[in-house]
Amino acid sequence: MSRPTLHIVGAGLAGLAAALRAGSIGADVVVHEAAGTAGGRCRSYHDNVLGTTIDNGNHLVMSGNHATLDYVRRIGAEHRLHGPPTPLFPFVDLASNERWCLQPNPGRLPWWIFDRTRRVPRTRAADYLGLVRLLWAGSQASVADAMASESRLYERLWRPVLLAALNTDPSEASAALATAVLRETLMAGGDACRPLVATQGLASAFIDPALECLRAGGARVGFARRLRAMAFGTGRVEALDFGDDVVKLGACDSVVLAVPAWVATTLVPGLSAPSEFRAILNAHFLVNPPAAVAPITGVVNGTIEWIFAFADRLSVTISGADRLLDVPREELARSLWQEVAAVTGLAATLPPWQIIKERRATFAALPAQDAKRPPAATAWGNLLLAGDWTATGLPATIEGAIRSGNRAADLALQAA
Ligand SMILES: Cc1cc2nc3c(=O)[nH]c(=O)nc-3n(C[C@H](O)[C@H](O)[C@H](O)COP(=O)(O)OP(=O)(O)OC[C@H]3O[C@@H](n4cnc5c(N)ncnc54)[C@H](O)[C@@H]3O)c2cc1C
Repeated sequence: MSRPTLHIVGAGLAGLAAALRAGSIGADVVVHEAAGTAGGRCRSYHDNVLGTTIDNGNHLVMSGNHATLDYVRRIGAEHRLHGPPTPLFPFVDLASNERWCLQPNPGRLPWWIFDRTRRVPRTRAADYLGLVRLLWAGSQASVADAMASESRLYERLWRPVLLAALNTDPSEASAALATAVLRETLMAGGDACRPLVATQGLASAFIDPALECLRAGGARVGFARRLRAMAFGTGRVEALDFGDDVVKLGACDSVVLAVPAWVATTLVPGLSAPSEFRAILNAHFLVNPPAAVAPITGVVNGTIEWIFAFADRLSVTISGADRLLDVPREELARSLWQEVAAVTGLAATLPPWQIIKERRATFAALPAQDAKRPPAATAWGNLLLAGDWTATGLPATIEGAIRSGNRAADLALQAA
């Protein structure tokens, strides 16, 4: 008798995590990906303008992202994530040119807020207690409902950190999602908030080693396999329609649908899912970063929000970047470079550049959108959902995507 097969649709991080999880317990795994490569919104590609491989966008993970760290360990790529041995976040205020370094201490007790050399300059330890109200906010509350937004601490810490984590302006973003991030990082102690970056590129840390692992374990991974429709029977999915090929499912076969929300709603009847999205803009500048430039620098009072220093380039990230989508690319490159030059001390002459606008980078982390996120299980016993937009309790992040994939695989295998 043949083994039950788990079909995974979508080879983003959620789909890859599901495939690895299922493969590790001996299931027969087939991955179907619409694009020509894996990675989805977390991918590397060779950029012809810059003549080098870059990522679609800078991705930061934190040492408290336990599912992410388990994932990279499982695929043998832990050494591809780099970060300081203790939490360290250099910041620059472009309006005042003030510079400081946020340094949460290792361990759970947050004594760093009592140390003026570790906290945000010109803030008091008591200011940090404002966080308590956020922790008690209801599921419908926004961050602004629960936290004063006119303080120096908000402008220099909570706003940049939460905007990066939620990809939604904290003034409107869900307090519950903000709290979920802070509980697992800053509030879990300094050991959970070391910033980690895939310095050799996202594909080398998250994607290529995962594909190698899957293939070594006997999984089949097919590209240019766009799922067009599913045939639904009573309580089950009976077939997957890829246009030129229809795959009939056996009685014990299951499907993990790990596609973006806007695709899932076209494939699953009556599916509730987030319908509002936010953009992220990344600008990559081909220069050798000066030695003094930190691997990641937070910027306040500018258009740029974070500068990432790689061996051959400086890349900037702007979250919630919808307001910039229609600004001409050349104009953007020039103005963003002026800010990078001011932070790094590099010459104002524009180096070779590339700008990538991801229009639907993540769902908008608003209370109403969060409420639309579906669980992994569906009305069809052998159909499970995965993706950063499903009800993970986290905003749309690598950590959420991987957790969702793990959970969907576990449920699919229980059902088989
Ligand atoms: C620019 C940018 C910066 C980001 N920065 C960070 C960060 O710093 N930290 C962080 O934690 N997160 C970050 N994120 C979010 C993170 O990238 C996502 O949460 C994560 O990659 C989502 O993975 P996923 O598998 O849920 O979805 P996706 O990556 O969207 O994967 C879905 C896959 O399904 C495929 N697909 C679609 N339709 C079909 C179909 N019909 N049939 C078959 N396959 C299909 C797609 O091609 C894709 O490969 C960022 C995202 C972007 C865009």
